[in-house]
Amino acid sequence: MSWNFQEIEDTVQQEAKYILDFQRLEAFRTKYLGRKGLLQEIYASLSNLPHDQRPLVGKNANDLRNNISIIIETKQKEIKSRQAQSPAADIDITIPGVAAPVGHQHILTQTIDEICGIFAGLGFVVQEGPEIETEFNNFTALNIPVDHPSRDAFDTFYLELPDPGHQGRYQLLRSHTSPAQIRVMQKNQPPLAVIVPGRVYRPDAADASHSFMFHQIEGLLVNEDVKFSELKGLLTVFCRRLFGEKTKMRFRPHFFPFTEPSAEVDISCYICDGKGCSVCRRKGWLEIMGCGMVHPKVFLAAGYPEGKYKGLAFGLGVERITMLKYGIEDIRLFFENDIRFLEQF
Ligand SMILES: [Zn+2]
Repeated sequence: MSWNFQEIEDTVQQEAKYILDFQRLEAFRTKYLGRKGLLQEIYASLSNLPHDQRPLVGKNANDLRNNISIIIETKQKEIKSRQAQSPAADIDITIPGVAAPVGHQHILTQTIDEICGIFAGLGFVVQEGPEIETEFNNFTALNIPVDHPSRDAFDTFYLELPDPGHQGRYQLLRSHTSPAQIRVMQKNQPPLAVIVPGRVYRPDAADASHSFMFHQIEGLLVNEDVKFSELKGLLTVFCRRLFGEKTKMRFRPHFFPFTEPSAEVDISCYICDGKGCSVCRRKGWLEIMGCGMVHPKVFLAAGYPEGKYKGLAFGLGVERITMLKYGIEDIRLFFENDIRFLEQF
């Protein structure tokens, strides 16, 4: 077999003109220099040639291999520099894109927004308070006596931060949103109506219904004349907007140090309509919040003149409301950050 090296060289030069990307370059290399490529074929044929022809054919084959190697090297540099100049040139714009996942508000944030939205529509202003509070605001000003069990270190996270205003006392992670009442009243004169959402902390062991951190929403309305009937009317409107117009309510007498009189509020179970089911534990009622008329001592602690104002206050747990509304049975689900749970809402 004889080889026309001139013709091969021409073909190689011709093909080289069309090498514009790495894919073609690799095909070109395989065709000539690969294990089953043309050069291997030429070298393999040497043994069948007459002895006197072998040196010339061998030299021609070596020249051809060198030329092809130079072409490959040059082309590699060309393609690289072209890609560096315009990276998009090598991107196949017809391939479908990868959509970036779009997040959404956490279910608890949605509930907070919904509740605050209802009260904002009733004229309340949304305010926030700090999560690190003084013992005075969290307990003393709210008429919670020094020997009250909630002041125990087992029930409150105390911080190693001295309370500047009250010697010998420490600051703490607020155990409820009620201290925000004190802050609001210290800064504002009535009439006022505020709604305060926020995180609160208690050293509870985590289980299906307890978490060391959870959310509350506090409401406070103060004016010269506020009646308990207004508290009832306000909360009735709120519960109907949140749970539906058919919702019935009942107020059960209760005790809170910072309100007098105080009550706990139940709504008729929106699942069984009061007949009794597993959600309401056969009672037909669901406990959803605490409320009452602001205790005169709280007004004094906030710096208001004695007997001048009256007020109503209420507080509710965001997790509890959300669990009731959506039939969620374990509070830990809110905080485990499991996307399979969160994306359902
Ligand atoms: Zn029920």
